[in-house]
Amino acid sequence: MSRFWSELARGLSPYVPGEQPQIPGLIKLNTNESPFGPSPKAIEAIRAAAADTLRLYPDPQATRLREVLAAYHNVAPEQIFVGNGSDEVLAHAFAALLKQSDPLLFPDVTYSFYPVYCRLLGIDHTTVPLDAEMRVRVDDYLGRTGPVILANPNAPTGIALPRTEIARLVSSRPEAAVVIDEAYVDFGADSAIPLIRDHPHLLVVHTMSKSRALAGLRVGYAIGDAELIQGLTRVKDSFNSYPLGRPAQAGAIASIEDDAHFQQARAAIMRNRDDLTAALVRLGFDVLPSSANFVFARHPDRSGQSLAAALRERAVLVRHFTASRIADYLRITIGSEAELARLTAALREVLAQNS
Ligand code: PMP
Repeated sequence: MSRFWSELARGLSPYVPGEQPQIPGLIKLNTNESPFGPSPKAIEAIRAAAADTLRLYPDPQATRLREVLAAYHNVAPEQIFVGNGSDEVLAHAFAALLKQSDPLLFPDVTYSFYPVYCRLLGIDHTTVPLDAEMRVRVDDYLGRTGPVILANPNAPTGIALPRTEIARLVSSRPEAAVVIDEAYVDFGADSAIPLIRDHPHLLVVHTMSKSRALAGLRVGYAIGDAELIQGLTRVKDSFNSYPLGRPAQAGAIASIEDDAHFQQARAAIMRNRDDLTAALVRLGFDVLPSSANFVFARHPDRSGQSLAAALRERAVLVRHFTASRIADYLRITIGSEAELARLTAALREVLAQNS
């Protein structure tokens, strides 16, 4: 460890994203990427932006992109904040809204970046256990004050709360910010966006990485009351006033404008999710009800780690976690039909060998 490191750098245990190995023929179902490409119109727009305008700085306010997103979500452009992936949007939300005198609340099983941001930014937090069925129980948050962040659908469980439950949570604490991370909302869950009108302390965060297949472009955004968005913008401008380059802005605009491609891809992923769930149940897995582009499943006879390792030997990559409450589970991204057929064949082989 370098003696030049600050106290902060020494104290951090950074987030480690899922592996991105470069193995030919690998079936990659570990980081919830889309098996389908992005809109061809987005690719064309990225090419054109790269060819024509890279010499120039991008629009720091991403004005056109915010207008297009506002029209799509039926809000005003002043209610939209954009960033370099929703991870960056979330980082700004933690700094601008979630560092308060009361501890921040979030579930004990959720997106593992949240405790990392707390550590980085010195935010006191309390985790609230999921119930026995791995669900978030809003009642467990009602007796407590302070800001809350929830992923809905939750990750890595995939279980979503209905909008009425989010409304109960948001109404319970008008004095504290509530952030709903809707990274996976397009795969069948309710969005909290309609609640923003009556709840100026609610921020909803979206990403273009999953349902729009643009993980490599790094575009995320938040929607909220114009005053909340101003707070986020202050933090962003103190850190990096050009969050999105020209290709990213152009690609994101073209993606939103190509609704047909988006609808087709998300419908195919939801269909494949139903098929994969049925196949896993036939193989003896217990599968949580997913509203996301992944499923969270465990087998009564085998640990998550041993299954993940056996699949890896067969060139299929899935995610497993070490935290004790979820160590039995695999998180499997919904791939294409061909990828899922390879996965189920590999699982069948692995389970037969060990029974
Ligand atoms: N929120 C959740 C719940 C996620 O699972 C992810 C993806 N790892 C993100 C946010 C971040 O996605 P991105 O930075 O690609 O927008």
